[in-house]
Amino acid sequence: MKFRDNVMRFMGGRYGNDQLGTAALGFCAALILVNIFVRSNILYALILAVMIWNIWRSMSRRVYERRRENEWFLGVCGKVKGWFTLLGRRWRDRKTHVYRVCPNCRKTLRLPRRKGSHTVSCPCCHSDFSCKVH
Ligand SMILES: [Zn+2]
Repeated sequence: MKFRDNVMRFMGGRYGNDQLGTAALGFCAALILVNIFVRSNILYALILAVMIWNIWRSMSRRVYERRRENEWFLGVCGKVKGWFTLLGRRWRDRKTHVYRVCPNCRKTLRLPRRKGSHTVSCPCCHSDFSCKVH
């Protein structure tokens, strides 16, 4: 049990793994797969760099900073996901609705597709703006 005690002491207070770490590992795995076919030194160096960075992150004792990095990463993931969801909805509703961004609050609004100029009242910030549907 001595070894385990030493491991526990070594890892105590260190950050460990998170979603960003898992994503970095997945990214590495993908690069390794690409590297089988491409075999470039730059790619190899990149794989090594990401792996070392990942190990360094999990060994880090600055838990708060690592957690903030992970939160930033999750935020970016959410935005990308939201963007794709919106793209899917736009495609699905392309014949019946148009999507317009409110110039005041930047919220994306789903409007019925009726040809001509309209005055739109934003349900979020209650400001009016005009939009044209072709
Ligand atoms: Zn608005």
